Amino acid sequence: MAWRIFTLCVCQLLAAALAWYLAPFGQLWTDLLVGALLGGYTWFLLDAVRGTRLLRWLRDGGADDIRLGNGLWGEVYDRIRRTVRAKDRLAQESNGRLSDFLAALQASPNGVVLMDVQGRIEWFNETACTHFGFDAKRDMLQHFGNLVRDPSFAAYYAARNFHEDVIMPGRHSTTTKPVQLSVHIHPYGEGRSLLLSQDITAVEQAEAMRRDFVANVSHEIRTPLTVLAGFVETLQTLPLNEQERTRYLGLMSQQASRMQTLVSDLLTLSKLEGSPLPSAQDWVPVAGLMEQCAQEAHELSSILNQQQHDLQFTGLAGVDIAGSAAELYSAISNLTGNAIRYTPAEKRIEVRWTLRDDGAVVLSVKDHGQGIAPEHLPRLTERFYRVDRSRSRDTGGTGLGLAIVKHVAQRHGAELSIESVPGQGSTFSITFPASRVRHAPMALAA
Ligand code: ADP
Repeated sequence: MAWRIFTLCVCQLLAAALAWYLAPFGQLWTDLLVGALLGGYTWFLLDAVRGTRLLRWLRDGGADDIRLGNGLWGEVYDRIRRTVRAKDRLAQESNGRLSDFLAALQASPNGVVLMDVQGRIEWFNETACTHFGFDAKRDMLQHFGNLVRDPSFAAYYAARNFHEDVIMPGRHSTTTKPVQLSVHIHPYGEGRSLLLSQDITAVEQAEAMRRDFVANVSHEIRTPLTVLAGFVETLQTLPLNEQERTRYLGLMSQQASRMQTLVSDLLTLSKLEGSPLPSAQDWVPVAGLMEQCAQEAHELSSILNQQQHDLQFTGLAGVDIAGSAAELYSAISNLTGNAIRYTPAEKRIEVRWTLRDDGAVVLSVKDHGQGIAPEHLPRLTERFYRVDRSRSRDTGGTGLGLAIVKHVAQRHGAELSIESVPGQGSTFSITFPASRVRHAPMALAA
């Protein structure tokens, strides 16, 4: 303030001095007074110009710097500029944080929708777009309840009981490719809400598979157990002669071994699922596997039939496969076992190892049996899936053999393929990649 009074006085004095020097009225006191008045007006004019510049700068948003010098306007300008700059910095920081926050929500594997007090969509991420089929331009500020019309969600939304989630089909769910969403609304702030959606299709499918598996295992075990219990009761209550007793005991032993095979296959599967992958450093000679397998195949063929099958085994001498001998053996024996069980006696079954040009090795088991209709092929490796239930049971099948084979193949980086023509026969092949194959100096067909 002192500076302003000082500059005003200096201005008036200078103007008065100028007036005295020029003496426009010729009278000393009149010249001095008019000079001082004009000096005062000039000062006020200059002051108003500086004030106006400051006001214009403020109106323009204070983007460019201006020069207002010292004094009141200069200080006001300086203080306002510092405050504005500090606010700008704060706003920029907040914007940055908001962008980071939204980017994090965008990256979320779950769908995120922010809604205002009226339930209108304020923001959503890409995942929510996929889950609910939203369009970023079209659906912003629309009522969520108007866009998502699923009855279970509508009931959940209307009840306003947001302690639990609701399960509903996703936007692109079809009967062949179902998509299940878990949707949960979390109220926050003053009436706003955050909606989270999660794709639980895989979880639901895994749960359904687990339920099916438990039901299947129970059923598979209960059947022989019921038969066994019936025989035990018969033996306890009926006066049977020696011959009948022997027959019943034989049938009981059959049921018991059926249960044993089932339990052993279940254990094999659970070991395959739970144990670490077989080492790529342990080498299993193909010839050894074939020898063991051929012996077992001849035994099985003679147990099941009066007349044996025409069994042909073609191995690869000097070739080793990296992996677990027990698992590989289990896969081959399941495939040859199936070929024997589903092929009439005397027909030819060929078990062959071949070396491909690209270094891969293929094990193929070809039979000339009943074959499999094409619609069954994709489901054959599912647990307990059988084309011919009674034939599978009659020949001691558990419905788990091909599931075991598929697991073993996957664990060895190999691929299982199935070709079949109904009435002509089937070929099951496992292709081991070259990286799993080792050659001795000379590889010759055995
Ligand atoms: P299973 O113990 O019943 O043989 P698998 O998992 O080994 O169970 O096989 C599943 C089903 O695939 C069998 O029930 C059978 O219907 C069919 N199958 C498997 N191998 C053959 C084959 N070589 N020829 C015809 N059908 C086969």
